[in-house]
Amino acid sequence: MSTKTPVLEVNSLRARLARAASAAAEAGVSALLISPGSDLKYLIGADVSSFERLTCLVIPAEGTPGLVVPKMEEPLYADIPLEELGIKVVTWVDGEDPYGMTRELVGEPTRLAVADVMPALHAIRLRDEIPGAEQVLAGPIVSQLRMVKDAAEIAALRHVGAAIDRVHSRMGEFLRAGRTEAEVSADIHRAMIEEGHERVAFIIVGSGPNGAIPHHHHSERVIEQGDVVVIDIGGPIGGYFSDCTRTYSIGEPKFADVAETYKALQDAQAAAVAAVKPGVSAQSIDRAAREPIAAAGYGEYFVHRTGHGIGLDVHEDPYIVEGNDITLQAGHAFSVEPGIYLPGRWGARIEDIVAVTENGVESFNNTTHDLVIL
Ligand code: ZN
Ligand code: ZN
Ligand code: ZN
Repeated sequence: MSTKTPVLEVNSLRARLARAASAAAEAGVSALLISPGSDLKYLIGADVSSFERLTCLVIPAEGTPGLVVPKMEEPLYADIPLEELGIKVVTWVDGEDPYGMTRELVGEPTRLAVADVMPALHAIRLRDEIPGAEQVLAGPIVSQLRMVKDAAEIAALRHVGAAIDRVHSRMGEFLRAGRTEAEVSADIHRAMIEEGHERVAFIIVGSGPNGAIPHHHHSERVIEQGDVVVIDIGGPIGGYFSDCTRTYSIGEPKFADVAETYKALQDAQAAAVAAVKPGVSAQSIDRAAREPIAAAGYGEYFVHRTGHGIGLDVHEDPYIVEGNDITLQAGHAFSVEPGIYLPGRWGARIEDIVAVTENGVESFNNTTHDLVIL
């Protein structure tokens, strides 16, 4: 935590702040009001959490940015090059009025864009303090920047992707008949940390019928011989998340339709990844994933979007879903994760994180896409 921020990082943060200010101007917004969360992390590198005491980064469309921060939390920003970034720091102590201080930083705004994650506690106080200004969400403005990853961010996603691949490669150590999903999950948790994750964001161990519940976590169910098991795991390194699903079978699968159905899923995932390149729409990737599954007769069992963007959040723009006609460009990073879920019986999903490159696609997850028989 005490390492000096490298010069390159200062320059890239400076560029981000400048782009955020122009994005605000373009959106007709007087200032962005950013509270702790992934937007704040992206814009100034601060990984802080604060709830009832207001912390607010003010980025005016024009002029000097400011940071309103509780005096007692100022030390948390020791590694942030606030001065070099030209950010005016305004501290406050309990009993003072941070909303009035924020008003002074924004001047006479007509529209203020408030961070999506700002607690209503603060958003409403700010609205009352600055009644002349219409409030809109800052998320769509900042996400225009965050969506296009720079080389360092792509490297971070590649690095964390390799770490989660190593965990999947070790699944034979943890996953076998006679153990509960919870026991397997505890071992995966340990392995994720061993392989470099800072923490675990989620672990889904969906065995047998639980595999047919896309957002099942894990339970006391005892894994049986012949079960198909969906393992979906992720966590951050350096703030950037992994998120990777593989499907396993404990010995030969007990249902006769697994091989053929899984083949359709594998074709779907491969077709969707192969369709990724600059210039195509996000929804075209969703359609590419859906086609082989529908052709095999399982269309109604693929019950979620094909993917989501990923970066400082596990789920962020761009979403790979019908109706999203955003044009993919180099630097977009997202999951491609079709699934087939047969209620009460079994389910399967294959998920890779990929990035759009100048002329195609790079996958950050590279373990086998076959149904892995353990
Ligand atoms: Zn999910
Ligand atoms: Zn996942
Ligand atoms: Zn995912």
